[in-house]
Amino acid sequence: MFAACNTPKPPAPPPPEPEIVSVRPVWLDMPLSWEKLVAIEDWLATDGLKSHQSLRIEALLQLNEGRVTYSRKDLERSSAPAQTVRVRIAAARDGFKIVLDDPNAGNASKARAKIGVQSTLALLDSPITSRSDVSIVERSEWRAKAGRAERLTPMRGAWSRITVHHSDESRSPLAGGTLEESEEVVRLIQKFHMEDPDHKWGDIGYHFMIDSAGRIFRGRELKWQGAHAGGAGGVNNLQNLGVCLLGDFSKRSPTEAAFKSLELLLSSLREEHKIPAARVFPHKEFTTTQCPGPALTNWLKDNVR
Ligand SMILES: [Zn+2]
Repeated sequence: MFAACNTPKPPAPPPPEPEIVSVRPVWLDMPLSWEKLVAIEDWLATDGLKSHQSLRIEALLQLNEGRVTYSRKDLERSSAPAQTVRVRIAAARDGFKIVLDDPNAGNASKARAKIGVQSTLALLDSPITSRSDVSIVERSEWRAKAGRAERLTPMRGAWSRITVHHSDESRSPLAGGTLEESEEVVRLIQKFHMEDPDHKWGDIGYHFMIDSAGRIFRGRELKWQGAHAGGAGGVNNLQNLGVCLLGDFSKRSPTEAAFKSLELLLSSLREEHKIPAARVFPHKEFTTTQCPGPALTNWLKDNVR
């Protein structure tokens, strides 16, 4: 017998590594354009899933840097609805944060992501000033929890009155603050309204909130009655839009920026829903409360009613 006959077969080669797509993605050689951003989004959702991590990080950076560039242009030229641009900027901010949180991202990538986050925050922080349309921070932007329909009352008829409140809390930055700080306050108010045993409401009670920088946040959707003016069985909430200025104004006055946005919002809501000036109320007209404080109550008297 030849020893060779008994030689065991060489071991089978190890199974191949999971396939890594090594084709150079098209977007890598494209100049900045909307087509390029769409190509990156497509790639991230398809080939990118099987691609090398460093290439995926590069894709995320280029995609979100592109979103920032186009958002800045849109804001300068008012060439897209403010809300669309804000949602895009918020998406870019979240994209950069993914890179910052990725342990595989190198220092250079993280530095780009950090610059990216800062530029998105600066863009989101530019409060509305000269624009004539009302720009609103939408629920998706402040990351609202979904409302609980079983606890909400559908809106019937037409909105016929507006009630103004202050949030009467000390978390809100008094002199503007950043968008993220205000978003956090709005989330806390929503949490309180939905989870506090004395409330347990289906959603945040107000339809709109305004921070000290003049940013307007969408609260409860307009297909639902609000929860803000009380009365037996919530009778005061019927057909009553709730607008709340963030902060405690029992001893202070809201900022000029907040008043300016309140004026803009009230005139826009009054026009849209045909609500006469005499039907814009401070909360205290419905119930024994100091809300919304003397400065805001007087402002309503002097400027609206
Ligand atoms: Zn109130």
